[in-house]
Amino acid sequence: IQSKLPNVGTTIFTTMSQLAAQTGAINLSQGFPDFDGPQALREAVGRHVMAGHNQYAPMTGLPALREQVAQKIARSYGRRVDMDAEVTVTPGATEAIFCAVQALVRPGDEVIVFDPCYDSYEPSVELAGGRCVHVPLALPDFAIDWQRLSDAIGPRTRLIILNSPHNPSGALISRAELDQLAALIREREIYLISDEVYEHLVFDGVAHASVLAHEELYARAFVVSSFGKTYHVTGWKTGYVVAPPALSAELRKVHQFVTFCGITPLQWALADYMSAHPEHVDELPAFYQAKRDLFCDLLKGSRFTFTRSPGTYFQLADYSAIRDDLSDVEMSLWLTREHGVATIPVSVFYQTPPKDLRLVRFCFAKREETLRQAAERLCRV
Ligand code: PMP
Ligand code: GLN
Repeated sequence: IQSKLPNVGTTIFTTMSQLAAQTGAINLSQGFPDFDGPQALREAVGRHVMAGHNQYAPMTGLPALREQVAQKIARSYGRRVDMDAEVTVTPGATEAIFCAVQALVRPGDEVIVFDPCYDSYEPSVELAGGRCVHVPLALPDFAIDWQRLSDAIGPRTRLIILNSPHNPSGALISRAELDQLAALIREREIYLISDEVYEHLVFDGVAHASVLAHEELYARAFVVSSFGKTYHVTGWKTGYVVAPPALSAELRKVHQFVTFCGITPLQWALADYMSAHPEHVDELPAFYQAKRDLFCDLLKGSRFTFTRSPGTYFQLADYSAIRDDLSDVEMSLWLTREHGVATIPVSVFYQTPPKDLRLVRFCFAKREETLRQAAERLCRV
């Protein structure tokens, strides 16, 4: 068969999680918690399953859940969105991104992504007949390189995909940078997907600069989030996308034929839990910052070097003082097989990785004992 995606193989997340399972390594590779979501949230699923909430949800998502999303957005970002015209619940952020890309990108269109970038973006663009233009973020802080961005924008640019807090680096886009972006694309018909799945995982007292709080950018944006990250239930694959009415209408044309709707009892449970526990999202930064700090404090005893991640549940670490002879892919395999800690190499998120990139990504969404055990092994490397 002549593949439509000849460059796509098995994702690094599958590869590394499988290797961790085979070797018995502690899995700090694929991003997911090794603890469960809140008990009340999980119990609510059982309740709704038994109450007969088991048939199709509305295509746009359960009204009770869309209402909770709208309320949360008002609380967090001061924007009043219309839950009927602007909020769509999806089976995961990945589906939301895929649908938004299919809704917007036409054959021959260009889509700007910032490398390193999440691995679902490019195949989504290619399936729509578009082409990704990769703009590398500037090291060491993974900041937007404005000259390169400006050079990358051309007559075929249709869409820019932002991701803040950024996977894999944890870097944040500031409000001033959103203003700068708005000025750069003001005169052009360029749309945005703002992947904000880690919106509530921002540390050190910094406020997340959401595109939802940016009037001008929101007018042309799909803002995507994931309940999986926010409520520690990545396996629920439930997310949402917020966009102005005309964009939401286009997205829904695609979503209704990709999956039609998200999973009904999960949506009921999330609506109940969000309504009873609006404080959950406000407590998340401290919850994950404590994990980041524990992990980083322990890692000080190792030969890895790093600066603390400003957001997400990922921590990058430079290993050049340990095995400068290994590429990051080789290092990840070696750490997993020989030292019992699975990691993600950063180069796989690049079209053209910087020469001599010596960074691996650790996921610190783990119980304290897991982090201690992993750090102990890493300090022996
Ligand atoms: N975008 C980014 C940057 C992510 O890290 C993830 C989670 N792996 C997703 C999107 C997808 O989220 P979901 O599991 O809800 O599809
Ligand atoms: N987003 C998760 C990560 O970056 C993985 C998601 C997946 O396995 N596709 O690790």
